[in-house]
Amino acid sequence: MQENTLAIIKPDAFRKNHLGAILARYEKEGFRIRAGRIRWLSLREAEGFYKVHRERPFFGSLTQFMASGPVMVLVLHKENAILEHRTLMGSTDPGNADPNTLRKLYGASIEENAVHGSDSPESARFEIPYFFPESEIY
Ligand code: ATP
Ligand code: MG
Repeated sequence: MQENTLAIIKPDAFRKNHLGAILARYEKEGFRIRAGRIRWLSLREAEGFYKVHRERPFFGSLTQFMASGPVMVLVLHKENAILEHRTLMGSTDPGNADPNTLRKLYGASIEENAVHGSDSPESARFEIPYFFPESEIY
């Protein structure tokens, strides 16, 4: 099924100048970039985005990290985009991620793990409109 997924190039990857490398990888792997914008999330926006994790012990640290600098938010399109992007990202902890995944290549720790991706159609349905109105997805 052709589908859209939300990706975020997180503040750590942005700070380390990996934006271009990650975008090039998306293109190389056959994702179409349908929307993209550089944003500096407020703490409120980060908290709203990750609200499923609000009871987790790492919620405060995660949301502060996500609001610590600019990010790039993207809508990626491909056959099975959600799962394909999760595979390309690798495990949450870069130490456990497969070789050549984005988190293995660019992540530093379980928190500073370079990229976010929607993990299901339900989360994509919440996450894409969180950043993009339909009219800005080309
Ligand atoms: P993401 O939602 O960012 O794509 P994920 O789906 O692989 O990552 P989640 O379980 O949804 O992982 O956790 C969301 C984010 O919270 C992780 O990407 C990471 O930045 C942070 N995180 C997860 N587990 C921990 C932890 N044990 N300690 C610190 N931060 C964590
Ligand atoms: Mg997640």
